[in-house]
Amino acid sequence: MFVGVDIGGTNTKLGIISKLGRVVATSSFKTRIPRDPNSLVKEIIDNIEKLLNTNEMTLEDIDGIGVGVPGVVDDKGIILNATNLQWKDVKFKDMFSAFTKKPVFIGNDADCAMLAEWKFGGAKGSKNAILVTLGTGIGSGIILDGKLYKAAHGTGSECGHMVIRFDGEMCSCGNRGCWERYASAKALTKRTEEAVMQNPNGILSKIVSQYGRASAHSCFEGARRGDEVSKKLVDEYIDYVVCGLINLTQIFHPEMFILGGGVAKEGPAFIKAVDSKLNGFLTKNNFEPKVVVKGPVLENNAGVVGAAALAMEDK
Ligand SMILES: [Zn+2]
Repeated sequence: MFVGVDIGGTNTKLGIISKLGRVVATSSFKTRIPRDPNSLVKEIIDNIEKLLNTNEMTLEDIDGIGVGVPGVVDDKGIILNATNLQWKDVKFKDMFSAFTKKPVFIGNDADCAMLAEWKFGGAKGSKNAILVTLGTGIGSGIILDGKLYKAAHGTGSECGHMVIRFDGEMCSCGNRGCWERYASAKALTKRTEEAVMQNPNGILSKIVSQYGRASAHSCFEGARRGDEVSKKLVDEYIDYVVCGLINLTQIFHPEMFILGGGVAKEGPAFIKAVDSKLNGFLTKNNFEPKVVVKGPVLENNAGVVGAAALAMEDK
């Protein structure tokens, strides 16, 4: 048995996971940011023990603990940067050794989601696959030639910060023109806010006020209801998503892309639109075979299953 921990900006989720990826039990608690990393580690271990207890297990029954973090993590388990948690250069793996003797593995959350899909979900059996999460930012995990791509220092990929528009919009990373400035849920939310300001009496404005605030979802909903402004924004948004996927295809030529994150919840029509635009473009370059685009299979538990998979990888 393994334990997977998924640290999110709002909640931290825990799961007891079998080596076949079965979710035995889960629990969660509020992450409460800002907070001291040591106190979070203690709370994680306390909650793991509690969860094991209620399932008549102890730490003795556990082979390893994996922890997924929303940030850049190196191969020593140091969190170099986690904007959501407001942490920089945190020796996270070392902190666990004060509370448990069990082996602990730290990884990026998108890498964990990719591992989960690869071992137990939609990318099972694939040798080359890329998972992209379209959320507040854009996260990515890459399976390259049959293993998780870790890069020179174990920090993996940060596809959200590849530059798709030189000298474009300012990004939180300090560079300009990053993919996530155009293709994250947050980017579409910003375009939606701008459209509402420009046309306060339009259909999109009414939809936004029904939801209480502008969001990527409200714009997709506008497009589904036939609003021309929303349709144009969604079309442009899909172009930006596809632009990044084209670049990734030219470098890695994966068998498939798995699109996760909030925007992927817009459903099969969104996935299909990305698929046909991407493959339409690639066909022009005689790119065969086609690249498959799909949504995630393991939705709510992908984070904890993937974090547990991080520990399994080392076994
Ligand atoms: Zn950036």
